[in-house]
Amino acid sequence: MTSKLYFLGVCFLLFACESNERAVNEEGIINNMNITNLYGDTFPWNGIAARHLKRWDVETEGLIPVKTNNNALAIQAMDKIEEVMGVAMFDRTSIADVPNDEITRGLIISEGTAMGPGGVVDKNSCGMVSKNIGTTSYPTSFYSENGTINTVLYVHLSSSKCTASLEVAIHEFGHALGAGAHFNGFGHGDAINNDFWNVLYNLYKNDIGARENQLTIDKIK
Ligand SMILES: [Zn+2]
Repeated sequence: MTSKLYFLGVCFLLFACESNERAVNEEGIINNMNITNLYGDTFPWNGIAARHLKRWDVETEGLIPVKTNNNALAIQAMDKIEEVMGVAMFDRTSIADVPNDEITRGLIISEGTAMGPGGVVDKNSCGMVSKNIGTTSYPTSFYSENGTINTVLYVHLSSSKCTASLEVAIHEFGHALGAGAHFNGFGHGDAINNDFWNVLYNLYKNDIGARENQLTIDKIK
């Protein structure tokens, strides 16, 4: 009797572990990259560079400047992103003291200003990305025809009705880094899971402007 219970316990543990670590295969990663980025036919994309990969040009234009406003959660999220990506992504100092309206490229962390569609603040208003405080809109032109994102985005974390978790913070950075529509593992099901990490990693491992048939995929999770 004792050994039988032990066996059942082990089975449950293995099953639980396996389901937590499951992630879609290479084809699934490409599918998610299409949905959230390459297709470019859903918000915030506007049809420019449709079917091409779009992201910040960290290699040529430099690390993404971030005005962190010493937000501990944002710093934790950036640390985690850089750890998983295996490279530096963010320049956390150069715009630290620049007034918001003088910043021309980068992310501005704004605590407590998240809101939902139509400016409604409710329990789901935990984080968002937009062109300024008090709006959910994106800049009208925030990336070029070759797919390079170069703009100023506010990363809003928390509101009066919701305190953002680390997962939510990473999710919002994911939007700011070039993830558009939600997919399973990014806003559908979980705020983020391994399927998100595989997408983010491959967005930055592949070339700006790459088409689907030019992608090379590394499944890191
Ligand atoms: Zn989202």
